[in-house]
Amino acid sequence: MDCSCQERVFNFSAGPGVLPLPVLKEAQRDLVCYPGAGASLMELSHRGKVISGIFDDAEARLRRIMNLPEDYHVMFLQGGATTQFCMVPMNFLGEKGADYTEQGTWSKKAMGEAKRLGKVHLVWSGNEGGFKTLPTDEEMDVRPDADYLHITSNETIHGLEFQHDPKDWGVPVICDCSSDFLSRPIDPKKYGMIYAGAQKNVGPAGVTVVILSDSLYKRVIPDERRPIMMDYRTHVEGKSMHNTPPVFAVYIVDLVLKWLEEEIGGLEKIHALNKKKAALLYKAIDESDGFYKGHAAKEVRSLMNVTWRMASEELEKKFAAEAEALGMCGLKGHRSVGGMRASIYNAFPYEGVERLVEFMADFKRRNG
Ligand SMILES: *Cc1c(COP(=O)(O)O)cnc(C)c1O
Repeated sequence: MDCSCQERVFNFSAGPGVLPLPVLKEAQRDLVCYPGAGASLMELSHRGKVISGIFDDAEARLRRIMNLPEDYHVMFLQGGATTQFCMVPMNFLGEKGADYTEQGTWSKKAMGEAKRLGKVHLVWSGNEGGFKTLPTDEEMDVRPDADYLHITSNETIHGLEFQHDPKDWGVPVICDCSSDFLSRPIDPKKYGMIYAGAQKNVGPAGVTVVILSDSLYKRVIPDERRPIMMDYRTHVEGKSMHNTPPVFAVYIVDLVLKWLEEEIGGLEKIHALNKKKAALLYKAIDESDGFYKGHAAKEVRSLMNVTWRMASEELEKKFAAEAEALGMCGLKGHRSVGGMRASIYNAFPYEGVERLVEFMADFKRRNG
């Protein structure tokens, strides 16, 4: 089995990432004719009962799974997490300026968009350390009167993840959760806003989940020049249906949420599975006598994206090629940082990590 054949492989892709097989099968079964609709979901008006039922179901499931307080708004938007990088400052960046962490590639991009629009205060940067660690609460220089604080819960490329919810700074926290959304329980009340591109952990590309507290929502800065599509009020008032929403993507998200809720049993359960997978892989790295060198500092290792380097790029290439021939695909690190990266999102099976760890031991024996 290799990555070019018809068989499904162990897919370590960082994004779009692996989806649960039962979800794909159900979508396939109902693709041409959705039960009770007489047509494919892709052929139905978003104003009709079937689609609005799916949107309602997805929102209700999300609220249950996350234990979301009533006064949080849920939106399904387009443009990816990258569009949130600009919508956030467009709506919330005022005279005081916003506070940003620089934790890696994605948080840097988010901050870059805010800088185009106004004043930004850097509360912490991991740049000099080569983005191997994350700040403790004490290390973060958050201003008590900032318009908001922006953080990234999981830096997908470097493999760094905050191990706890942010502390209460008295400032609304806006969090890019794209790559660890719904991978563990969090306390939503610690956040003013959470956003996540679906294609890492909860669905296909094309939809971004945005969860916004009503208290932060009320702080949207009035601005007549802001394009309507860039204004959160448009999407809250229009219930994510101001214009044609990404119907099919939301349908798949709904199926993934159903899988997470009914087959897995919620966030505590998926967190336990995710911890078990990551522990197995980090153990293989730690016990390799430096043959595999983990990138992230131990305290902030991501449960979702496991990153490591090897002695040379040549060896890394060989590793990736051999793994691919054995049906383990997507292990090459991001082009900007190199090395190896195994993305083991919610839907990634434990057996795939076992297979990888066996291969790592074997590869080390032959090349160590
Ligand atoms: C992938 C990713 C993004 C970019 O998402 P798009 O949907 O491609 O815009 C942003 N932030 C994080 C943390 C990511 O992992």
